[in-house]
Amino acid sequence: MDSRPHNKLHIYFLPMIAQGHMLPMVDMARLFARRGIKATLILTPVNATLVSKTIDRDRELGLETTIRLINFPSAEVGLPEGIENQSSITSPEMSEKMYKAMELLQQPFENLIEEESPECLVADVLFPWASDVATKHGIPRLAFHGTGAYALSVHRELSQRKPYKNVVSDSEVFVVPGLPNKITMTRRQLPDHIRDGTESHLTKLIEKAMEAEVTSYGVVINSFHELEPAYSEHYSKTIGRKVWHVGPVSLCNRDNEDKTHRGSTISINEHECLTWLDSKEPNSVLYVCFGSLSYFSNVQLLEIAMGLENSGQEFIWVVRKEKKTKEEEDREEWLPEGFEKRLEGKGFIIRGWAPQVLILDHEAVGGFMTHCGWNSMLEGVTAGVPLVAWPLFAEQFYNEKLVTDVLRVGVGVGAQEWCRWPEESKVYVKREDIEKAVVQLMVGEEAEGIRRRARALGETAKKAVEKGGSSYNYLSGLLEELELNSN
Ligand code: UDP
Repeated sequence: MDSRPHNKLHIYFLPMIAQGHMLPMVDMARLFARRGIKATLILTPVNATLVSKTIDRDRELGLETTIRLINFPSAEVGLPEGIENQSSITSPEMSEKMYKAMELLQQPFENLIEEESPECLVADVLFPWASDVATKHGIPRLAFHGTGAYALSVHRELSQRKPYKNVVSDSEVFVVPGLPNKITMTRRQLPDHIRDGTESHLTKLIEKAMEAEVTSYGVVINSFHELEPAYSEHYSKTIGRKVWHVGPVSLCNRDNEDKTHRGSTISINEHECLTWLDSKEPNSVLYVCFGSLSYFSNVQLLEIAMGLENSGQEFIWVVRKEKKTKEEEDREEWLPEGFEKRLEGKGFIIRGWAPQVLILDHEAVGGFMTHCGWNSMLEGVTAGVPLVAWPLFAEQFYNEKLVTDVLRVGVGVGAQEWCRWPEESKVYVKREDIEKAVVQLMVGEEAEGIRRRARALGETAKKAVEKGGSSYNYLSGLLEELELNSN
């Protein structure tokens, strides 16, 4: 007999406050709720406004998904009011304050746990204290990373075996040992803190997160088993914990409404965007977007513009720059003279936030130039779209190799240097390389092979979350286990 005061298993979801972590965890909570549990998302006020409409729609459909608020400690850490998400930060100093704020969320979070007594906690690994809270309250803590088992395996091997110490220069290629595939890297492609051993709030946080991961009940991953079977096993063995692949979680956004309003207010009219795409041939448009955190200097943006124009391909390009003043409207330094007029009907620029999942799912989209953030990569794979990999920072250089060398569903643009905050006057990838990669992906025989593999993988991704699919079964198993534990 159920010993709980209510009938449904109640799970708390605590997402890290960055779109690349929050959006998949919101989707995950919704996915869990569809399987009959009560899901409560813990969010700060500004972050809650980004997803509350989606949650309201789910509630109207009868799902038990709720948001509980905890205040963001803006004054305590010295961040301006309203800055509660990593996508709003513009400097390393602000980033450090954001991590500090995440530490301060522990007490208000614990107060909520005491009030509601959920039976399980799914928390982002970047809240290492979540394991202590779960232990104190006698409930299992599941860890969630924004990324997949492949990148986690690469990260573990790199940090334990340190193969980058055996090379003499930053450009010398080395093999990451102990992995199921031969993955090569250079020191320039590694995060600053690994390369120079510098310490920051973030590095200490990552260390603590890795410790909390091995003491957690297990890890839930936004991925599907067939995408990375050997890495799923490798990672689980390395941390000595069970892992559950329950994705791609973005597939819980089934209708256009859900796909359009995912995560932020979009900066275009979705009908205009869809009408534009409807007028194009299947597989003819390249979608270009670099996630929610990336910054490019004006000179690099100019290079992208020229590379796209010279490729001769049609494109939608998302630029994280909004026109603020009249002057900026008249003259945008990052755009070549007359660019938009010349490419009218051929190129579509979205300044700000795009409905990414909606766009990727359109049949006119035949390629995705991505920074290889895990969500973007997975969303591209799920839509069966081939990728141009342009990694920038975080674990994106690892993910690039998964795309180009392991799955072979894309080509690299030739990015060589890990960089979170780019220099204003430096061009990291030249227009010729951008043009070459785009043409290689969109046109010719090699492109056809890549497209075939991408399409097949997209089909497998969709099957994984359907009844009887691998992710569906993983989730059934996990929920049964949690149910047993909680009685
Ligand atoms: N995204 C979006 N519209 C945009 C930019 C990003 O919908 O204009 C979404 C994208 O679909 C993905 C997430 O934001 O789900 C970004 O996560 P990712 O891991 O790709 O990159 P990050 O932003 O963490 O670098």
